[in-house]
Amino acid sequence: MKSDKTLIGQVYLCPICGAEVSVIKADNGDLAPVCCNEQMVLKKKLNAVYFCPVCKSEIMVVRGNENNLEPICCNKKMKRYKLPE
Ligand SMILES: [Zn+2]
Ligand SMILES: [Zn+2]
Repeated sequence: MKSDKTLIGQVYLCPICGAEVSVIKADNGDLAPVCCNEQMVLKKKLNAVYFCPVCKSEIMVVRGNENNLEPICCNKKMKRYKLPE
């Protein structure tokens, strides 16, 4: 089955050991991470990813939520990657 386009911030969970991975760079490849010999499961949540418009640094929220987050880099507010829709 063809998966949807890979999105920045997507999270995959290993059902065996609980390892989580998150997409930092996304392209058109067919991402299908495997852990413990099992296909990792795509979770519903997307981690928020922000980038600095000046130096292009990127940060990702890996725990908690981004509601009160206002990351600053190079004295500028970092921008959040657009969510789909
Ligand atoms: Zn595992
Ligand atoms: Zn910066």
